[in-house]
Amino acid sequence: MDRRRLAAIARRLAKAYGTPPPPRHLPPIEELVLTVLSQHTSDTNRDRAYADLRKRFPTWDEVADAPLPALARAIRSGGLGPTKAVRLRAMLRGIRESGVALDERALTTMADADLWDTLVALPGVGPKTAACVLLFSLDRPYFPVDTHVHRLARRLGLVPVRADAVATQAAFQESVPPESMYSLHMNLIRHGRAVCVAIRPRCSECVLADLCPRIGVRDSR
Ligand code: SF4
Repeated sequence: MDRRRLAAIARRLAKAYGTPPPPRHLPPIEELVLTVLSQHTSDTNRDRAYADLRKRFPTWDEVADAPLPALARAIRSGGLGPTKAVRLRAMLRGIRESGVALDERALTTMADADLWDTLVALPGVGPKTAACVLLFSLDRPYFPVDTHVHRLARRLGLVPVRADAVATQAAFQESVPPESMYSLHMNLIRHGRAVCVAIRPRCSECVLADLCPRIGVRDSR
């Protein structure tokens, strides 16, 4: 990744959008559970399912030991209850089987690399979720690549057009200074939602236009 261009993009976005609000710093298990519950639903439904889950099963051990039908019922307000129940239970059991107690402090004291390896080894947890937990829960320097970041990285020529999300995450991870990871991640998402949208990006309003090799492109890549 071209670090000078990346730095210019980061500066331009910081000027346009300012300093993003701080991360929510939820305990890692909570962040992981919310990630599963947020799949294919709105934030409102995710939060409702989370509240229902905590009411029905107050501890994470109870969730890990719950029968799947009861678990699916508890989270049904978030949609895809049976599928998410399987994922949630497998994930929590995976953490427990790695020797970590399922409490508020779970995973918080592990070194970065060990935590990364533990997270990506869990069923249903990929590099994006692992990086979110490290960055948002624990302020560790990891760069999550969601759909917006992935799209912008390819349009801006920061990674090859055919780079997948995993390769894009590795490229950002290697190139972004640790202290800039959170703000750049947040500002790329903001730009991807507001201007460099998937279909018909608003290139004429874009603060990155002179840095973008794809200006004027109107496809959804
Ligand atoms: S110029 Fe267009 S394609 Fe390039 S980053 Fe801006 S909105 Fe996206």
